[in-house]
Amino acid sequence: MTDDRAGRDDDDPLRRASIELLVCNAASGVVPDLLVGALCCGFYSVTGLAPRLWLWWLVLAFVRLAGQRAMRRRGSAARGALLATLAASGLLWGIAPLLVAWLAGMDAAFAAILLAAGIAIAAFGSYGIDARAALLATLPIAVAIVGLALAAASLAGYAVAAAVPLLYAHQCLVAVQARRTLAAQIRRRVESEALAAERGERAAKATAELDRRLETERMLRASRDRAERLSSTDALTGIANRRYFDKRLRAEVSRAFRARSPLSLVLADLDYFKQYNDLYGHPQGDECLRAFAALLESYCRRGGDLAARVGGEEFALLLPETDYAAACHLAEQARAAFDAAGILHEGSQVKDNATASFGVASVTPDGLEAGEALLAQADAALYRAKGQGRNRVAGAAGAATGAAAAP
Ligand code: GH3
Ligand code: MG
Ligand code: MG
Repeated sequence: MTDDRAGRDDDDPLRRASIELLVCNAASGVVPDLLVGALCCGFYSVTGLAPRLWLWWLVLAFVRLAGQRAMRRRGSAARGALLATLAASGLLWGIAPLLVAWLAGMDAAFAAILLAAGIAIAAFGSYGIDARAALLATLPIAVAIVGLALAAASLAGYAVAAAVPLLYAHQCLVAVQARRTLAAQIRRRVESEALAAERGERAAKATAELDRRLETERMLRASRDRAERLSSTDALTGIANRRYFDKRLRAEVSRAFRARSPLSLVLADLDYFKQYNDLYGHPQGDECLRAFAALLESYCRRGGDLAARVGGEEFALLLPETDYAAACHLAEQARAAFDAAGILHEGSQVKDNATASFGVASVTPDGLEAGEALLAQADAALYRAKGQGRNRVAGAAGAATGAAAAP
């Protein structure tokens, strides 16, 4: 068999399945074959007719066992080993009655003929789906039996010689039928396996596609979140920017309105910051802004608290569910902490270090527009803190829209 042919055999699923079945049948036939052979030899040695027949059995055992080993290979190699084994054992079983006839005479060969015929019938059952395998395993036996029957030159012999080809032909027909049925079954099995494999492949492809989409979605979400974070963050200080502050102010006013809870706003502005820039340079000014932003953020102690940079050197602390007194207390803490930080500011008219002024306002909103009033009140308070000498916290003079707390 050329490599090309062997390759095609290995690729053809039907052929592969039939080889697997034949190899399996050959394996299950080893023990019965050798047992029948041993019975045959046992009979001829006990009766003393042909004890040397055991030598034949040893050869048979070697052929069957070595053949089984060789059949462990895959595809066309297994089929080659199978055909070689079947041809050898067919020949041996054909030789057996001839050997007995030669060693013990024609009359003694009857048992060997019977057993060899039995082996041939069993071989048809086992290898019928493969014409070549069936012929190799059985034809030598049939030829030997017919030959012996003709050599007997008796009426019974002629009857046997005529009957064997008839029976053989019938067995061939049965084998062809069995082959068709089995081939159809194998084809169906192969087709359903191919279908299942195709379904599995499609399912795997669909899963991979889903994974890919989920990954794309995850990346899109991540980049959207990143973009959102960037658009909400002040580039210089890293805290929230004005845009995000306005959005959160609207949201918190609406939440406080629904919950009828207080909302406080602290606005803070660095004192004499223009002079700070003039004296120490813009980069140093940026550094000071960053320090103040970090300090304010450290006072955002609850989940909803927000520190934001709302202008050049103006900042805000938005404090949901915080009343006026608590907001003033927090602002005072922040003011004192910044003052205590001792950032040198020799241009300040307050003292030798950087300071900030704070304006505080609170509201329990009675409408969604309360945010603007809150902002205006905090701004007015901040203006007052500036006017009263800076580095201080001032509260809103009047109530914002709704029940605002005042100092
Ligand atoms: P006041 O105490 O009344 O608030 O006086 P001020 O000098 O702080 O206020 P003014 O509004 O006159 O000056 C604000 C300064 O803040 C001017 C501007 O150069 C500075 N500034 C605004 N944004 C930035 C910034 O991003 N970086 C730096 N370094 N300075 C900034
Ligand atoms: Mg200022
Ligand atoms: Mg200002």
